[in-house]
This record gives sequence, C-alpha cells and structure tokens, in this order.
Amino acid sequence: MLDAQSAAAAPPVIRREDYRKPDWLMPDVHLEFRLDPARTQVAGRLEVTRNGAHNRPLRLNGDGLTPLAVLIDGEPQADAWRMDGPDLLVDLPGDAHVVETRVEISPEANSQLMGLYASGGNLCTQCEPEGFRRMVFFIDRPDVLSRYTVRMEADKARFPVLLSNGDRTASGDLDGGRHFAEWTDPFPKPSYLFALVAADLAANVDSFTTKSGRPVKLAIWVVEKDLPKTEHAMAALKASMAWDEKVYGREYDLGEFNIVAVADFNFGAMENKSLNIFNSRYILADPETATDIDYDGVSGVVAHEYFHNWSGNRVTCRDWFQLSLKEGFTVFRDQSFTADQGSAAVKRIEDVRLLRAAQFPEDAGPLAHPIRPESYMEVSNFYTATVYNKGAEIIRMLHTMLGPQKFRAGCDLYFARHDGTAATCEDFVVAMEDASGVDLTRFRLWYAQAGTPRIRAALSHEPAGARALLTLEQTVPPTPGQPEKQPMPVPLRIALFGERSGRAFEEERLVVLDGERCEILFEGIAERPVLSINRGFSAPVIIDAARSAADLAFLSAHDDDPFARYEAMQQLMVDTLVGAVSTGQADHGPVIEAVRTTLTDPALDSAFIGETMLLPSEAFIGDQMAVVDPVAIHRAREALRRDLGGQLEGEWRDAYERSRANRFELSPQAKGARRLRTIALGFIMASGAEDAAGIALRQFHEADNMTDRQGAFGVLANSLAPERDVAIAAFYDRFRDNGLVLDKWFSTQAFSIRPDTLDRVEELSRHPDFTLANPNRLRSLVGAMSGNQLVFHEAGGRGYRFLTDMLLEVDGLNPQTAAKLVPPLGRWRRFDEGRAALMKAELQRMLDTPGLSKDVFEQVSKSLA
Ligand code: ZN
Repeated sequence: MLDAQSAAAAPPVIRREDYRKPDWLMPDVHLEFRLDPARTQVAGRLEVTRNGAHNRPLRLNGDGLTPLAVLIDGEPQADAWRMDGPDLLVDLPGDAHVVETRVEISPEANSQLMGLYASGGNLCTQCEPEGFRRMVFFIDRPDVLSRYTVRMEADKARFPVLLSNGDRTASGDLDGGRHFAEWTDPFPKPSYLFALVAADLAANVDSFTTKSGRPVKLAIWVVEKDLPKTEHAMAALKASMAWDEKVYGREYDLGEFNIVAVADFNFGAMENKSLNIFNSRYILADPETATDIDYDGVSGVVAHEYFHNWSGNRVTCRDWFQLSLKEGFTVFRDQSFTADQGSAAVKRIEDVRLLRAAQFPEDAGPLAHPIRPESYMEVSNFYTATVYNKGAEIIRMLHTMLGPQKFRAGCDLYFARHDGTAATCEDFVVAMEDASGVDLTRFRLWYAQAGTPRIRAALSHEPAGARALLTLEQTVPPTPGQPEKQPMPVPLRIALFGERSGRAFEEERLVVLDGERCEILFEGIAERPVLSINRGFSAPVIIDAARSAADLAFLSAHDDDPFARYEAMQQLMVDTLVGAVSTGQADHGPVIEAVRTTLTDPALDSAFIGETMLLPSEAFIGDQMAVVDPVAIHRAREALRRDLGGQLEGEWRDAYERSRANRFELSPQAKGARRLRTIALGFIMASGAEDAAGIALRQFHEADNMTDRQGAFGVLANSLAPERDVAIAAFYDRFRDNGLVLDKWFSTQAFSIRPDTLDRVEELSRHPDFTLANPNRLRSLVGAMSGNQLVFHEAGGRGYRFLTDMLLEVDGLNPQTAAKLVPPLGRWRRFDEGRAALMKAELQRMLDTPGLSKDVFEQVSKSLA
C-alpha cells in the first residue's frame, strides 16, 4: 500500500477515457537550431489554428524549458503568456496566429537521452514519446500533425553532417567556420517522429528503386571505421523495402532514407520519418564482433523501423493508449518478414520463447495491463512486451482467423482510410471487419483485457464408435484493476495423431473457442489419438492438456508442425523438471530418449535441433510453480543437463564434430550448425568429461566468428575450470576497444551460474569500463544479473540490494532506463516469505527516496500495491 505521504506526491494519472481532441492545430511549423553541445538555441515558429469553438489558451508543452522570448504574429509579448508548471500558456485573440518561442538547451548535459543529446561527440534527438518538449515549446501529442521546415546551423569542422526529416532543400557555408542546412518534410507528422542529427559521420550509400520506379537514396551513417560493419543492415533495408511492396503493397514515399547509428540510446531504434536513429548494436555487424543472434537483431530491427513508415508514420496513433496500433502491428510485420527470409519454424520458436520470457510474467504480475492500457502516469513505462509482443500475437490471431487474403484487404482498407491521420486500435479492427465481413465484437476483448488465458483441454476416445471428443475450457485470470474477465475468442490450430500409425487423422482444424467451454467431435478415429493443440502457437495462451510423457515424446518425434514438435519437447522437459522440484524425484529417462531421437534424426536441420535441445529457462520453470524455489529449480535443471550430457555424450560429440565449419558463412544452414555446436559443447561440459574445458577453450581461441567465440566463452564462464579465467582475460584484451563486444563481456559474466557471480558482478560495477550513462552497458551488467534467477535471488537479498543501489543511481541520470530495471523486484509475490520481504523492502527503499522520478515511482508503487 502507498502511505499517505507517497500518495500525496504521486504524479497525476492520465486516462484513456479522458481523451479530448486538441484545442489548437498546427499545420505548419518552422524550427531553427543553432547547434552547440553546451548551449543550443532553438526557435520555434508555429502556425496555429483554433480547433472548434472554445476560448481556451494555447497550451505549449515544455519540459525543463525557460522561454527567452514569446512572439505573437511577429510581436514580442510580455503579458500574453504564463507558465503552468512546465507548460507555456499563450492567450490568443483570434482563430489563427503565428506563435514564436525561443529557448536555450544544453545537449551535452542531457543524460536522459530524450530530446536533443550528445552521443560520442555527435548530436542527435529522441522525441518519442515526449522528448520533443525538451527542445521547443510545442503541442507535443501524436494527434497534432504538422509540416516541418527545419534550419540547422553548426560548426562545420565538428559537425560536417546535418540531417533532418524529408529532403534537404538548402545548405551552405556561414561565417566563423559554421554552416547550415535546411530540410523540408512534405508529410505532415506528429512531433514524436521529428529528428535531427549533427555529426561527424560517414555513410554507406546505396539505392533502391521502388516498384513504381521511384529512385531512393539510402544512407547508413556511422563513425568512419565502422563502415565495413554496415553491409548487413543495408542488405536488410533493401530486403525490407522489397518485402513491404510485395506482401503489403506499400512503397517508400521520399527521395531519401537515412539511418544514423549512435552508441547511447534508450531503446533499440526509432522510426523518425526518413531519418531512423538506431542504437548501434542494431546496425553494426561483422563476423569478428557480432553473433548470429546479433545479425538477426540487426535485420529484424532495421525491418521493424522501416515498416513503421506505413504502420506508424503514414498512419500514426491518436494518443499513447493506442501505442500497440503501431507497435503490435509492426512487430507482427517484422516477424513475418524474418520468417520469410529464413526458417519460419525457428523464428516462431524464438518469438514464442521471448513472449514467454518477457510477456507472460508481466501479464501475471503487478504491472499487467491490456495491450491498449486504460491509464498511465508515465507513458514511457508502456513500451512493454505486452504492447509490443502480445500486441503482435493479437494481430497474428486476426491473420489466422481471417486468412491472408482478407487480412491483407483489411490492411489495405486501414491504410487507405487513415493515411495522413492519427488513428485508434478501434479504427484498425473496424477496417478488418469491413474488409472481411467477419464480426470482431468479441475479439475486441483482446485489446481490453489483461492476463494470459488458460485453456484446459481434455481428449477422450471412444474406440467402439471410432470417435474422439475434445473438451476445451477457458479462464482468464484476474489482473490489477480487472478482477472479472470475459472469455475471449481463442483460435486454436488442432490436429490428432494416431498413436500407432504416427499419422494425422485428418487435416488440421482451426477451432475458435469463443466462450468458456466447447466440445469438438472427431469421427473416424479408430486408434487412440494424441492431441496436438495450439500448433504454431496460434493463440497467446497457456495450454493445460495433461498429456503423458509418452504422448509428448511421441509428438516431439512425429508431429508434422515443427513448432508443435518443439513445444512437445519443451512440455516434456518442463513436466519433468517441475516434477523433480516438487517431489525431489526425477525420472530423466523419457527426456533423454526424446532428445536422443531428435538429435539423431537425419531429416531435421541443425537450427531446429538446437532450438529443441535448449532446456526451459529457470525463470520459465519458476513460472509454473506456486512458490518459486530458485535453488531447487537450478539444481533440478543442472541435474537434467548433467544426465543428458553424460548419457548422450557420444551423440553430443558427434553433433559437435559434424557442426564444425570450414569457413564462415551466414547461410541458415551455417547458422544452425553454429547454434547446435555450442549447445552440444554445453552438454559435453555438463557431462563432466575431462577434456571438456579444453575443447571449449580451443573453440574460443580458434573461432573465426563471434558466435563460436562467445558460445565457448559463455560455456566457460559457467565453469570452475581455470580455462574460464584465461577466456575472460583474452576476451577483454581482444575487444577492449569495442563497446558493443565489451557489453557481451560484462553480460556473459553476469549470467554465470558460478557461486561467486555476485561478487564478480559487484567487482565489475567498479571496472573502469563500466558506466551508468550508457544504457547498453548498464543492461549488460545490471539487467543481466537481475535476469539470472539463481544469482539475483541469492538468499540474504544481496542481489536485490545491488539492483536497487544501481537503479537509484541511474534514476538521477536516466529515469526511463531506471524504470525498466524495476520489474524483477515486482515479482516478490511469487517467492517464499523471506525473499518476498527482502524484495519488498528494496521497493519500499526506492519509494522512500526523495526526488524519485515519476517513471520509477509508477513502477514501484504498482509493484507494491
Ligand atoms: Zn516500433
């Protein structure tokens, strides 16, 4: 509970139902930036028009700004304006005026990385969601769209490159070694899509011709020495442009498309119109420094930001409650793109693993919210796995239920209707309904209700009548503010397999469970059927089907849906581990046999085998239990790993040898082989074989790519062998000048299961290369530690205290990033009383800290409530 004092200090709650259309519109704006890292002058010239009949003043949002001048229609004003908290209120007599303001800001002092800030000596902006108001007094809300012209001036030697949205319309030299550029963006946009960059960077330049013949100049800007690392991003950009034309009929709409990579960035990347700004980890890749996962991250994020040009920019969001309108849809689009580029099955497995790791716990905890939230204190806290990843699942369900053609027709209608405007989730659903003729009334509940539905599935067989009856029952758990839930339409892809024949009885069915309960009859089922359900993970739900180990092993070997095969193996492993933790008794036999079958199946590709062999995470096992016991879970999981390693040692060694490559390639086959190789290495290590650490160190030293090197490093980091210290030192020496690789050096150690990991993490927090100012570095140490269930939950609460100390320090610099560290502590209800009390005490310590940001306040107060 909040005590009275904290409650009094609580920031106001913004509610979706309070939405009101803007009082003023701003069709044209002109901005002037006199750029300098210490003191930048910003002038805004806003052509405002009264929107409807009212006499309210013009409210211009500000955040930490002091007006140096306010002009109305060219006349300086002394009395026509006043401050209201951070905002500027201007009284305007008529219905249309030109309002000008001037402020001064200091980019180099901006540690929040919102608004205009300095990174690596360059200047860049981040405006979503409310960073624009840290640069200029403005109507900073997404439903006010303006045409922008921008003039930038800067020192030419220091900032030779001046970029903003749209097309460059003028540029030239000025006195005193300065120069200027002017940019015009013909597309009306909200302020959150504005960007500018003043930098000393070089570009990888390329081109793309759209399907209607429009040439587009593509440029990826990075520090010059990193140019060779931009090829993969460029290829991904071109592939994305072509894919959006082919699959969604969407063309690019301007003459240039710029991407800028910066080292300091709060999120992954930002879709500013024609000037995407990226966290450099999602641009730079070469074999020496990037893993295959990094390569996939680059192409996925490049695609995501590019796809936003339509799903986000051409059609934007009316208000921040609609965030999933652009994010859920765009994640679905980037997932589909990646699936089309490589292995769709592996991509689906990875996406579901992420959903379960990040979103299911969120949906089951104190921060649960629907994909379209009802209220917030700080909108930055709602860039969540729910809005993004569950949001994508909800779009995917529409795709599944309507089928690809009607889904595409719905998208076409949505874009046609809402192009150039700010829309709502409701608009999207209506377009889908109108184009398909399908009634989505009940489907809308997916937007409104939080919590992961649970589906109980029971299959009975009547051999005499050759019939099977499947009973499905749905419950949606209560979540904060939503004690009662209605059942939602749940599309489930279902098949039955003959236990003896190993074949499916009929074509897969799509069953939509549209109430609390339904029964489905299958006929012609002569032999005992085995149930394959939620194939392809057709709905973001938890299935409780109580299948035997034998049935799961059968499906893991015979199901013809690759996701379902993976899922059966996971379920078998989870059941085994949960059983071991709760009874203290483990029967590893069925898992070992199922793993053997998959590992030696010549028809399967390595990537799929690798995915299937991964043991469920400790956190995921904990999610299945009434009270999480991190130590028991860890022991049970390591015992299974040891047994798998020992009993299948020969098979792992075979897999290890056959996955050895002669030279580096990025083909799906080569990536799959590298994946399986390191997984096999982990099991060889777990077997306790004497030569294991030596094999790992050899892989570490001989690797010609980061996937193999990092893979071996990860295996060694967990070990007590002396080779571990050799690898730590060698890795550091080799990569000490590469920030992105150093992040791996930190995170790999923080993820270690060694008993001294917390000591090491504390030591690393004092390492000269550690800094709280860079979000990637912070996450690589503190984020990784708090994701290491065994270590974070060490009895005594040292992990909790470390996290809290760090978080409070970061909050003074960068509240948005600090707030993202809160959720692991918010899981206290899931742990034993001792740990729960320690976790709560740390949350309370945060709440009692004077000057806490509203970002952290919101997360902490909700976590304690
Ligand atoms: Zn996005």
